[in-house]
Amino acid sequence: MMPILDHATAKAHAQRSLNRCTTLSKISAMHDGILRQYLSIEHKECNRVVSEWMTAAGMKTWQDSVGNQWGRIESTTPNAKRLIIGSHLDTVPNAGAYDGILGVMLAIELADLVTKKQLDLPFHLDVVGFCDEEGTRFATTLIGSKALAGQFDANWLSIKDVDGISMREAMIAFGLDTEKYAESALNPDEILAYWETHIEQGPVLEHQQQALGIVTAIAGAKRAMISYTGCSGHAGTTPLPLRQDSLAGAAELIVAIEQLAKSANNGEVATVGQIEAKPGATNVIPGFTLFSLDARAQDDNDLEVLLTQIKQRAETIATKRKLTLDWQWTHQAAAVDCDSDIKNLLQAACQLNNENSPLLPSGAGHDAMAVAPICPMGMLFIRSPGGISHHPKEAVIDDDIVKAIAVLYSAIVMQKEKMLN
Ligand SMILES: [Zn+2]
Repeated sequence: MMPILDHATAKAHAQRSLNRCTTLSKISAMHDGILRQYLSIEHKECNRVVSEWMTAAGMKTWQDSVGNQWGRIESTTPNAKRLIIGSHLDTVPNAGAYDGILGVMLAIELADLVTKKQLDLPFHLDVVGFCDEEGTRFATTLIGSKALAGQFDANWLSIKDVDGISMREAMIAFGLDTEKYAESALNPDEILAYWETHIEQGPVLEHQQQALGIVTAIAGAKRAMISYTGCSGHAGTTPLPLRQDSLAGAAELIVAIEQLAKSANNGEVATVGQIEAKPGATNVIPGFTLFSLDARAQDDNDLEVLLTQIKQRAETIATKRKLTLDWQWTHQAAAVDCDSDIKNLLQAACQLNNENSPLLPSGAGHDAMAVAPICPMGMLFIRSPGGISHHPKEAVIDDDIVKAIAVLYSAIVMQKEKMLN
């Protein structure tokens, strides 16, 4: 079987996947925007609609014990493993139509093609629509994918949303059995791999004028809250050499953070996104400044090197300006490499379709990183016009989706052939 999809077929499937993203965008808790949170009535309705599409694609469907939506094209091969393809169906408030959703819609198109072309795969093709990646309702991200990896934390059940409804209450209202969350966990021995297609949510592919990219790793991240304490004083009477201005110290460090990350040169990024100066008056020297640091890299060692440099600079500035430095780590996530066999397969599939396949790291977190502990995972990125995401202006280029479906189809046929040879 030639692992190439003709253009007209790819185009028809791409168009339907985009139409379905639009249909799902209307299942929203917001009147003039998109919002679909975990265990909401919109979540339930979305799963219902998606399961209908899965059924139409020839899949057997089910919802698991935490609310992930599944569909399967069953293999006739004895003891077949599961190739899981998917992404998430939940959204942030005032979201775009494609973040997560498109990856699930493309997986359903792929399943439909497998059915129509009677591919008889030597593995079960499992499509998953994860229930909560964004974590906007219970401030707990990646609930659906962590549950698959057996990492659903029972303490989460007590977390309350802004309306005071606990996750336990919400699960019961949704129709789930809170005693059974662990049943979503998968047996790693039964899984072949996890593939995820996702919009890039950044400007790199657009800048390179490429439709698709292959993800090398999901960046590790570390966050800290940093403060400088100096001395407040009168802005008119205190001579500059006698000041201990915490905000001026923070400003010097912020510029240094940008420079250090820039010169690190291996894709490292560092951001100060929050700052508060006290007492916060125009005529008072700020005696206390608190600010955030978010640093990411696709290699944990690179990240450590950068953070050591930043911390040394923070201490140097504190000494020079007679400030007291306080540094509290608030978050840490290790970098997760994508599987090299999957990267190679996706690159070969791109090549077969005359598509370039630039490699790039993912600066954002994805379900794939939560699934990584139980199986090999890989990700295909689709160009994000303007790099815009988590915003109503989030968009995709139609022709990029045609290319994505063609590449995914080639990849699945090549995966089949690889296993039969
Ligand atoms: Zn996403």
